[in-house]
Amino acid sequence: MATLTAAPRNTLKIKIQRVKTAYLAKRIDKGVPSGKTHEYTFKSDGNRTKTKKQKEKIAGIIFKNEKKKGNLNGTDKRTSLAEIISTFEQEKYNKGDCINISLLKSEVSFEKQKTANLGDELYVVIQTENMPDRKIKMNLKQGDKKVLADVQTAIFVTEEGSDTANNLFTATVGEFAKKNKETIINASDFTDYAIAKITLKSTNEEDNKKYAKALKATKDKKAKLYIAMDAEPADNDWASVKYEEIFDNRPNLWYYGSGNWFEVNENRLYKKGDKGDVVREINIRLAGFGGNVPSVDFTKRTEKTVIQFQEDYMKIEPTGEVDKKTLKAIDEFSHKYPISFDQIKCDCGKCTGFGNGKFSSEKQKKTILEKNRKYEYPGIHRSIIYGLKGVLFYLDNTEKTLNYSFNKISSGYRCHIDNKQNDRASTNHMGKALDIHFNKDGKRTRKVSDIEDIRSKIFKKYLGAKFDWKAGQKNIFNLESTKVGATSWVHFDVREFDIEYLMNNFFIKKMKDKKIQDISN
Ligand SMILES: [Zn+2]
Ligand SMILES: [Zn+2]
Repeated sequence: MATLTAAPRNTLKIKIQRVKTAYLAKRIDKGVPSGKTHEYTFKSDGNRTKTKKQKEKIAGIIFKNEKKKGNLNGTDKRTSLAEIISTFEQEKYNKGDCINISLLKSEVSFEKQKTANLGDELYVVIQTENMPDRKIKMNLKQGDKKVLADVQTAIFVTEEGSDTANNLFTATVGEFAKKNKETIINASDFTDYAIAKITLKSTNEEDNKKYAKALKATKDKKAKLYIAMDAEPADNDWASVKYEEIFDNRPNLWYYGSGNWFEVNENRLYKKGDKGDVVREINIRLAGFGGNVPSVDFTKRTEKTVIQFQEDYMKIEPTGEVDKKTLKAIDEFSHKYPISFDQIKCDCGKCTGFGNGKFSSEKQKKTILEKNRKYEYPGIHRSIIYGLKGVLFYLDNTEKTLNYSFNKISSGYRCHIDNKQNDRASTNHMGKALDIHFNKDGKRTRKVSDIEDIRSKIFKKYLGAKFDWKAGQKNIFNLESTKVGATSWVHFDVREFDIEYLMNNFFIKKMKDKKIQDISN
């Protein structure tokens, strides 16, 4: 007879499954040393790295070249310019010299958000306990009143760039940690997290337009949303999951209730293909960053000016798209470099300061070449004003080491009376041109070589300006060369702009520009 022995009693391990919190967040990547380095060998002699400026310059070249090859920046590398600068120990590097650049890896954190713009990319971060591999389903739903959708109805979102079925998106506990094991240094911190990457838009442009319109129609330009979640196991055992943040007696809702909604604001992003008054202002106000015409279209050229502005002025990784931050920076830039209209006014002592509108019959007449047009435009062209602001910025910052600075506008508006007083006939200066004096080492320079230097190292390089109105130089800033007559000053103009960009409304007598942020609102 077999002897029966009692089996050891089951230890009851009750593991309560919890969703501790859930929120919408921005991902922040910080570069931390990975322990690996990248060896860089100099390919030429005389790389000076004594001053801060020299260091930045050489590091910039290395960064650009190596980034292209994916050696410093890529999915698993986050080495920055600062890291390269920190490796310079000598004052000069020659061909064959080596430096070891520390390779950085991402350390990720998620910053909780209470608001976002339509079209923004966001992460839904869910912290759990005792729920490994659980697939969690979610909606983003319309809160207190109908805006994007009916109340308590899910809005469209895209997940990882694709549409979601029935506006439902998912995240699996532990997946983010597993997927990013190689690329993120602290991936294991997220073992108990389910993380979904979503974008607050549909892949259907019609839906997006509908959303934008609905937001615009509201008084506060906001839609209030909340997260609804289903974190139950496949057998739908409700009681097995405990949701820890409870609002309004609804266990599985986040951002729910008065004062606690997730607010989605109108998307005020401008990008290639867009059209309108704000785009026109971008084209005017960023003319000093590559040159542009005051068109209502966000063109490839607009994108290039935005990139140049973001790189040079904002010093950020450029996107070529104008978001709130960029709008704010445009306002800051405009404010920082004021231009004196007293220096621009006509000297004749008889006209309004900006002519008398003489020869208005020639205005917008397509049969007259601009160089022959006698019309006195009603002010100075705005693209020139902003072009000059760009020049002031570059002299003062990027090209500070050239030691040139702005002296004054020596000649701005010159009406027909002024022309007669001075025995000249050119009509360029009837609102379309400025003559400028510059300092070298703080003192006005009249040296031809200095002026030619400024033309090529500032106007040509950063404003895309060309010389002497040659064939094909339409819709860009033109410079008068030394041999044509501008010896000790820089003359630049918008004479070669198409007639549609020389309409009265582009000419101003004083600075009265509203903030671009306000125009955009
Ligand atoms: Zn005058
Ligand atoms: Zn001139």
